[in-house]
Amino acid sequence: MRDELGRKINYLRISVTDRCNLRCRYCMPPEGISKKEHDVMMTLEEAFEVVRACAALGIDKVRITGGEPLVRKGITGLIKRISGLSSVKDIALTTNGILLKQYAYDLKQAGLNRINVSLDTLDEAKYRDITRGGDLNQTLEGLREAQMVGLTPIKLNTVLIGGFNVDEIDSFLALTVTEPVDVRFIELMPLGQAGAWAKERFVSNSIILQKHPELIPLENEDKSSPAKYYRVPGAKGRIGFINPISHQFCSHCNRIRLTADGKLKPCLHSNQEIDVKAILRQEKPGEREQLLAQAVKQAVKGKPEQHGLNQEGCEPIGRDMFRIGG
Ligand code: SAM
Ligand code: SF4
Repeated sequence: MRDELGRKINYLRISVTDRCNLRCRYCMPPEGISKKEHDVMMTLEEAFEVVRACAALGIDKVRITGGEPLVRKGITGLIKRISGLSSVKDIALTTNGILLKQYAYDLKQAGLNRINVSLDTLDEAKYRDITRGGDLNQTLEGLREAQMVGLTPIKLNTVLIGGFNVDEIDSFLALTVTEPVDVRFIELMPLGQAGAWAKERFVSNSIILQKHPELIPLENEDKSSPAKYYRVPGAKGRIGFINPISHQFCSHCNRIRLTADGKLKPCLHSNQEIDVKAILRQEKPGEREQLLAQAVKQAVKGKPEQHGLNQEGCEPIGRDMFRIGG
């Protein structure tokens, strides 16, 4: 599928839940989400129908996210069904890693190719603080298990937060020297929970390059990847920078999103939503396929040229990151 600007759209990010077993300070409210809100979620059967409709139109990469996707019951079954779609070439999952030790083997068996794990600090006490109670050791054990079963290459997502983890940049760089993992620094976005403090805690990724001129720039193998990659000389893994605020990557964007409550979104930062759950629940089975295809095409058509996060007075989006699928 091509959008109005000629960009090839072949990537679907699907959020399977907006619940989570952590409460990261920049993402979730301390109380989590209410049970009532949870009842309006799509079933995994419905989610699969949307993935199948997207796959029929040319989506060949799928990423499962949330909320925390591994708290959703039946997640390995969904992955198994998606991996059975012959046109889907790549299935990945983004997780906080807390339940990864338990699930890694089953996920691999179900057909998952690789994982991204969110890790903002390598310090146990700081991890407990930023996640409001998480145990760093569970995530580290999950990472080891994922490596062992071959959910690779593993990418770590690290949100750079002023006054919190800037002092750990060197430790993350050192990690890529000894371990075959990519560490990707993500700029804090002013969404939902982070809206209030993102401006004062925001740190541009460029400070890392200024402090580490020895980093070797690498050719981007995947032009649509939002990350620009570098390598510490001699390191096994890479360092990536995802700079949604200071450097947009919209001109290469190849994705659409499906929220856990059944809305297709043309862009993370767009308020436009297309209600596919309504199609799935109200339309007759015979008509559904055609209406779903129309909805997918509408989402692709609705992709904006770029988001306005770095512009003064841009309209804030209504959803938190965990409600869209980060
Ligand atoms: N629970 C999973 C996890 O943490 O990996 C998947 C969902 S989480 C919403 C996906 C990613 O979004 C995480 O890497 C998280 O750090 C990032 N994220 C959440 N809120 C953010 C914000 N305001 N700015 C930048 N990244 C954010
Ligand atoms: Fe949960 Fe991921 Fe949000 Fe942290 S970033 S609260 S792990 S959804």
